Amino acid sequence: MNDQLPEDLICWQQLERTASDVFRLFGYQEIRLPVVEKTELFARSIGQATDIVEKEMYTFQDRNGDQLSLRPEATAGVVRAMLQHGLLHNAIQRVWYTGPMFRHERPQKGRYRQFHQIGVEAYGMAEADLDVEIISLTWQLWKQLGLTETTLELNTLGTANSRQQYRAALVDYYQSHKESLDADTLHRLEKNPLRILDSKNDAIIELNRNAPDILDYLDDESREHFQRVQQLLDKLGISYVRNPKLVRGLDYYSRTVFEWTTDKLGAQSAICGGGRYDNLVEKLGGKPVPAAGFAIGMERLIELMKIEQLCQPVKRQDVYLVQTSATALELGSTLAMELRDAGFSVTANVGDASFKSQLKKANRCNARLALIIGDDELQTSTISVKKLDDGEQFSVSRDNLLAEASKYLAITE
Ligand code: ATP
Ligand code: MG
Repeated sequence: MNDQLPEDLICWQQLERTASDVFRLFGYQEIRLPVVEKTELFARSIGQATDIVEKEMYTFQDRNGDQLSLRPEATAGVVRAMLQHGLLHNAIQRVWYTGPMFRHERPQKGRYRQFHQIGVEAYGMAEADLDVEIISLTWQLWKQLGLTETTLELNTLGTANSRQQYRAALVDYYQSHKESLDADTLHRLEKNPLRILDSKNDAIIELNRNAPDILDYLDDESREHFQRVQQLLDKLGISYVRNPKLVRGLDYYSRTVFEWTTDKLGAQSAICGGGRYDNLVEKLGGKPVPAAGFAIGMERLIELMKIEQLCQPVKRQDVYLVQTSATALELGSTLAMELRDAGFSVTANVGDASFKSQLKKANRCNARLALIIGDDELQTSTISVKKLDDGEQFSVSRDNLLAEASKYLAITE
């Protein structure tokens, strides 16, 4: 779990701002939910036989004996809230969220125990255009951020029915190679054979090359849906590669699944995962409502933004206010208020300090101007203005300060 220090947060805020702008452009509204939910909610939605539920959740019993978990992802909570507040009755909903998620994983670069996601969820639309809407939303976000090193991987998991036949074919295939399966794979074979396709074990990756392909098991409807998704992506010029091994780590997906990956981040290459989950709302106790969404891993995306040099530099402070006496301070605080009213950022020196040490602080806080109010200035109703970049200093009358400061700060912005 990482601390997020002021310096790191510049890029985070840039990402959050850009993402919320893009979400608004697509008509998505923000939703904020608790980080704790009943454990059962995650077990039912994500699936018992998934890594997340089997070994990654932070689960505890509260004082009333309720089993609770820190959320490992947000979709389950969003569906819970939608149902609880009756927001899905004959309604279409488009929402986005951001916040910390918790998984007890083995920490490594790009994989943390508290990490952050930003994502969207859309409800009440079964058609392929929605799948493409959320994919093009991510595409638009990458464009807006300036990212170029991303690849869209696409697959379909079909409907529950077609997946059942596929599952049987997979079981047959792995049964016939049982001698080369490790313990984890044998466990998956018994509980959740599709998850074998997602294995990170080299021998299994090799075995997966010849595994049956879901495309051969799709019913007509699933096939048409997937074709329509690809057609619309082609029309938009969003390129993708089909990855037949892409099954995603959560059980609730159906039909379209996708991941955005990059080869710039080493082993933790997925920066965004999503897809359609038409059965989830019903599974969590609602009437059937089709749904789709995605989640972006913010730590990984920010790492990629840094590699691609897309993080904006720290915004400089406009003014540092140097005030060398109690009377100067009184005038200074009024000036600071006027400057801030006009939209300039002002750090005022607090407490007694020598002129020299105040100027040092002005440089340390990376201000563009130091405004100096000392005894001379008080007597002559002037303010000394020092440009901290080149050290040039001049004097302006108190009445002209705002105009002069604005002029200088506007050209050096
Ligand atoms: P992975 O295969 O890398 O474990 P996942 O399939 O478990 O990913 P999802 O549940 O789909 O991940 O979450 C969506 C995104 O959240 C991922 O693509 C990734 O960018 C990010 N993410 C997931 N787990 C972590 C983690 N422990 N630390 C940092 N980011 C994570
Ligand atoms: Mg994972």
